[in-house]
Amino acid sequence: MTDEIVVPLLAWYDENKRILPWREDRNPYRIWVSEIMLQQTRVEAVKPYFDRFIRSLPDVKSLAEAQEETLLKLWEGLGYYNRVRNMQKAARMIMEEYDGKMPSEYELLLTLPGIGSYTAGAVASIAFEKPEVAVDGNVLRIITRLTADETDILSEKFKKQIREELLKIVPLGRTGDFNQALMELGATVCLPNGAPKCEKCPWHGMCQARMQGRLDEIPYKKKKKARSVEQKTVLLLRDGDRTLIRKRPEKGLLAGLFEFPTFDGWLTTEEIRRQAEHLGYGVLYVEELPQAVHVFSHKEWHMKGYLVKVEEIGFSKENEPDEKRPSDYHLISPTMIESSYPIPSAFRAFTPYVNVVLGNERFLR
Ligand code: SF4
Repeated sequence: MTDEIVVPLLAWYDENKRILPWREDRNPYRIWVSEIMLQQTRVEAVKPYFDRFIRSLPDVKSLAEAQEETLLKLWEGLGYYNRVRNMQKAARMIMEEYDGKMPSEYELLLTLPGIGSYTAGAVASIAFEKPEVAVDGNVLRIITRLTADETDILSEKFKKQIREELLKIVPLGRTGDFNQALMELGATVCLPNGAPKCEKCPWHGMCQARMQGRLDEIPYKKKKKARSVEQKTVLLLRDGDRTLIRKRPEKGLLAGLFEFPTFDGWLTTEEIRRQAEHLGYGVLYVEELPQAVHVFSHKEWHMKGYLVKVEEIGFSKENEPDEKRPSDYHLISPTMIESSYPIPSAFRAFTPYVNVVLGNERFLR
């Protein structure tokens, strides 16, 4: 049975693997960075982020020593900013405890902040050829389809069970390729949402879900609790070419990033004027913008945005302090925002109104 599964999978991988920048060598740092980025975004979208990140922070040492805002700026648009913060904590541990070299053992990798079973398995097998496996939602989808298993793939117990099963068949000498083959199959052939390209699959002749015509039912996922919905008002307050942004609190959602001033609930035009005046600005006009929705893993923001044009108050220098404006607010030009102030993609719908381009789109310009 093992050979029946492993041999065609590896043969397919040898023929079909994509050329990806993090596969050029078996550098554990590059593999780690790519795996963390790939947890949230597709391969094609990750490439420019990966290139830029590696160019700025080419090794564990540079990541350990990076300024937080440089780090967040490099991650802008990828979301889940705690992941990159944890990477930095892990890099510092690697510098202190492992002389700057990533540990190769799965168990040691697991002790590093932000490295869970999947990433530890990926780094240990791909970079160090250890007999480990990397099980994520893609792998669970493929395996449950192959075996027509109806267990809830969100169950941690089931995930552990699949890990145990795969550990029995991971082929020594090609453990990294085995894991990458599963990842590649999930990304390019055994696609989610009932749209797999079974005719291209190395397991076409043995896949139980396909043969039983149950691709719509498997993988099975128990329904999650519905996300909560929050109403927000976002102010794009402009003084000439400059826009007001503020730093979010150091804890909680989008911690430490910058935002256009955002308030709970949907404010009336009168309330918006009062908020601007409270910050020391005279309002010339308020223009309502199209609404936007941003979906986080556990909540949704339904946002109404307003362009608030205020009277020029004549600061001569970029971000010059103003007595009335609280210190966490900054009045900044688009160029400065793009270069130095990480803005989360939750606000992407509003950035064109203040001529700011975020993250990935900026590299592709
Ligand atoms: S045959 Fe189809 S459903 Fe089965 S593993 Fe291959 S791509 Fe997935």
